[in-house]
Amino acid sequence: MTPIGIAPSDLFDAIGTFLADHHLSPEPANYAFAYTVLSDPAGPLARAVAEITDGGIRLSREDIRNLGVGAGGDWAPWRAADAARAELADHVAAANQRADQLIARADLQVSGFSDLVRAMHAETTGFGRNLEESAAAIRRADPLAGGDELARLTGAMIERVRSSEQRLAAAEQEADELRRALDEARDCARLDPLTELTNRRGFDEAFGALSPDTPIAIALCDIDHFKRVNDEFGHAVGDRVLRAVGQTLAGAVEHGLVARYGGEEFAVLMSGPAVASARDALDRARGAVAARRFRVRDTDMPIGEVTISGGIAIGRAADALEALYAVADAALYEAKANGRNRVICAA
Ligand code: GH3
Ligand code: MG
Ligand code: MG
Repeated sequence: MTPIGIAPSDLFDAIGTFLADHHLSPEPANYAFAYTVLSDPAGPLARAVAEITDGGIRLSREDIRNLGVGAGGDWAPWRAADAARAELADHVAAANQRADQLIARADLQVSGFSDLVRAMHAETTGFGRNLEESAAAIRRADPLAGGDELARLTGAMIERVRSSEQRLAAAEQEADELRRALDEARDCARLDPLTELTNRRGFDEAFGALSPDTPIAIALCDIDHFKRVNDEFGHAVGDRVLRAVGQTLAGAVEHGLVARYGGEEFAVLMSGPAVASARDALDRARGAVAARRFRVRDTDMPIGEVTISGGIAIGRAADALEALYAVADAALYEAKANGRNRVICAA
């Protein structure tokens, strides 16, 4: 059998040998399959093939169909993973647009509400002034005419109170609507404004949308000694570092969804073929963060080493997210305890 791991210059010959070894006709689908395996010998497809052919077993047509490489040479599971990510991005964009609309509506309601409060304030001020004037008038007035004046004053008071009550009821209704709109806006948000990554809600939804049999890896990453950055350089600098770390992670993890899961904690969801290389992918991302040299923007002062630790749990989409999260969290804890700036994959 042809070993997996061929230099690109020999690719053409290697593909021919591969097809011959596995008794595969050189039709486009088989050729594309061999090409995908041999052009990326360290990739997940090559590894999947190595697993199946371990000990010299020949690949069957069914194996190839199951592994699903199309005639164009792209691998169906990758396509599915990337399509899922694109779909989530669309979903996030639509949700954010909706959130923006709701916030704009809430804004309008807030200004309407403050107009109302201002009007009521003017009304009660006027009311107090009228009362004082009327009381003075009664004191000055002929005692015989006092009764009429008192009746007029009481009527005016009742009318004012009624009008204020109506305005208050309207204000309360406005406030309720505002509260509802803000709740809805909060519900719609799937994007973390600081890092511009998916937030926890978006991440949990992406997990929930996977079909139950999908193999998955969940990684939790936490910035090491992040408190030091805040303490030494202030919260605003901390925020910028947090954003940069998030963006670095998202750029380094090719086939996965990176979300800001909490304060200085990120979660990565990898599914399908990406699971086989989850540890490597996360370790590369860890390296990318560690390689960055952060400086304070205004003073150019070096911020010093910023690293992350990561814990990975492997399972299936049918597993409870909380259980996977707990396993990943325990692995993260271990990575911290073993010196930080490392990734541990739970066995
Ligand atoms: P460890 O390596 O054990 O994780 O140490 P640590 O200092 O990172 O951990 P700790 O949990 O003690 O501190 C986390 C810090 O992260 C404290 C908190 O103020 C900071 N943090 C959380 N969210 C934000 C944020 O949005 N912006 C900034 N600037 N800091 C944040
Ligand atoms: Mg933390
Ligand atoms: Mg931390």
